[in-house]
Amino acid sequence: MTETSVKSAVLILLGPPGAGKGTQARMLEEQFGLVQLSTGDLLRAAVAAGTEAGKQAKTVMEAGALVSDDIVLAILRDRMTEPDTKAGIILDGFPRTAKQAEALDKLLESEGLSLGAAISLEVDDAAMIERVSGRYTCANCGEGYHDTFKTPSVDGVCDKCGSTEFKRRADDNAETVGARLEAYHQQTAPLITYYAGKGALRRVDAMGDINRIAEDLAAIVREVAA
Ligand code: ADP
Ligand code: ADP
Ligand code: ZN
Repeated sequence: MTETSVKSAVLILLGPPGAGKGTQARMLEEQFGLVQLSTGDLLRAAVAAGTEAGKQAKTVMEAGALVSDDIVLAILRDRMTEPDTKAGIILDGFPRTAKQAEALDKLLESEGLSLGAAISLEVDDAAMIERVSGRYTCANCGEGYHDTFKTPSVDGVCDKCGSTEFKRRADDNAETVGARLEAYHQQTAPLITYYAGKGALRRVDAMGDINRIAEDLAAIVREVAA
């Protein structure tokens, strides 16, 4: 059931690849009616559609590096101004650089929105390789699964939509994950200090059980967005 007391919340989920941003964002969507905005999903859709931005992003993503701020900001702005985001948004995988964080501040200001919280999902690097290497998603509804940590209740059938088609990301391999973790530590982790300085940072231990982490996040959402 959706809790309806949350109004125009803007939440950021910060964390390395595999931290659980997508998994938790989808749970918050269901619970609070917020809309998940994943720049990774938006970029993969642009790659699949073969747009100019998608063509430029493809090789960068395959190498595990960050796509240019200009491309990412353009696709995020387009999506953020669609009407369904009025109930509030969870930014999953954005911002990832100081320039993106500053652009987001301006965008929120111009839309009359304020940041509820920037939530840092705290995990250790060793576990991330295992999480990312075993990740797959439903090809129909996008629900996320893991070979070991989150399997469908009926083998080969999506819990959410009943589809039997699943897919794996091209960049979820051990070599690319190393580059992605490095990009996270060099370019994204400094944002933890940026949001701490604004008094917006919340830290969540993201090493444990998926449902326990979800409860910690729900408590933050209720607190900042009620
Ligand atoms: P992860 O599960 O590793 O957090 P995402 O789906 O968020 O992955 O992102 C996949 C890839 O898309 C990244 O490795 C990067 O190349 C690109 N990407 C996604 N979001 C951004 C962003 N905000 N800025 C730059 N590149 C991004
Ligand atoms: P991100 O969006 O941060 O890259 P995902 O939400 O896609 O991360 O999670 C990465 C993988 O780890 C997925 O296969 C997911 O099912 C699994 N996973 C997510 N949270 C946990 C957790 N707390 N413990 C174990 N595995 C998890
Ligand atoms: Zn599904």
